[in-house]
Amino acid sequence: MAKTEKEEQPVRKIKHRSPLRKLIAAEESLVPCPFCKDLPRIGVHDDEGNFKGFAENDIAREYLEDPWSGLSFRLWHPSKCPVGTDDPHSSMGFGGYNFQYPTAEAAAKDWNTRAVL
Ligand SMILES: [Zn+2]
Repeated sequence: MAKTEKEEQPVRKIKHRSPLRKLIAAEESLVPCPFCKDLPRIGVHDDEGNFKGFAENDIAREYLEDPWSGLSFRLWHPSKCPVGTDDPHSSMGFGGYNFQYPTAEAAAKDWNTRAVL
């Protein structure tokens, strides 16, 4: 019995650190936009920036488990506020440059410290 318990613990730890869990935790840490009070989203992208979806989307979830073409994250704020993108199909960025992060935590940190505003 005790042996089974020990064997299960590492599995739980791995699950807790899964890319999806990290993405959800990063999104939950986001503070509201200072201008419109909306919450931004963190999108799942490949390393070329192709959008795979958000945490609740099956395609994004599958891609997080098997990021066969690289993995990056971008901030999405399709709002008609001063820092919003207006366009619901565009992540944040300007002049052809999009903010692209290696981890969801890095995207959340930039948003929460106003580095992108
Ligand atoms: Zn806003």
